Amino acid sequence: DSRLKRIASSIRVIPDFPKPEGVMFQDITTLLLDPQAFKDTIDLFVERYKGKGITVVAGIEARGFIFGPPIALAIGAKFVPMRKPKKLPGEVISEEYSLEYGTDKIEIHVDAVQPGDRALVIDDLVATGGTLSAAIRLLERVGAEVVESACVIELPELKEVRLGYRSEDVQSLVLV
Ligand code: IMP
Repeated sequence: DSRLKRIASSIRVIPDFPKPEGVMFQDITTLLLDPQAFKDTIDLFVERYKGKGITVVAGIEARGFIFGPPIALAIGAKFVPMRKPKKLPGEVISEEYSLEYGTDKIEIHVDAVQPGDRALVIDDLVATGGTLSAAIRLLERVGAEVVESACVIELPELKEVRLGYRSEDVQSLVLV
């Protein structure tokens, strides 16, 4: 697909960000500067998920807030932001996950997702899968069925999320 080539070449790589330890940071802000690449990214997801009965697109802070909403609008689903702790004003439910050093949490409003909702989880990039795994666990705890999780970019070390009791694939457009 020539669209995938355009998307891949629109992503900028910045070495040693945010830490000077050989990290090659995948920067999607340059993808957003190319309206055709941005549209192609959204179109590819919409083509995959339209008509699948998805009722909620859950975007992970912060870059899941860029890609999630246009997908949700195009497939007729609600959009739910999955936020860092203490950002949401209402009653929340949260899920903890491990980082290289320490732990972090993501949260949603308790009334944003109902049992029977069919969810798609969106983020910009999957590395270890820890963030996506926590997002899926949280959505399942409130009774949603997670149909799939999807990212723009996948780092080579991993292509699945581990939920503790099972693993599943992550769909991604660009493998770096
Ligand atoms: P994981 O939990 O190890 O899979 O890391 C994925 C999370 O870290 C996502 O929320 C990404 O936005 C973020 N992340 C890790 N590396 C990069 C990068 O190179 N570019 C952009 N985001 C990154």
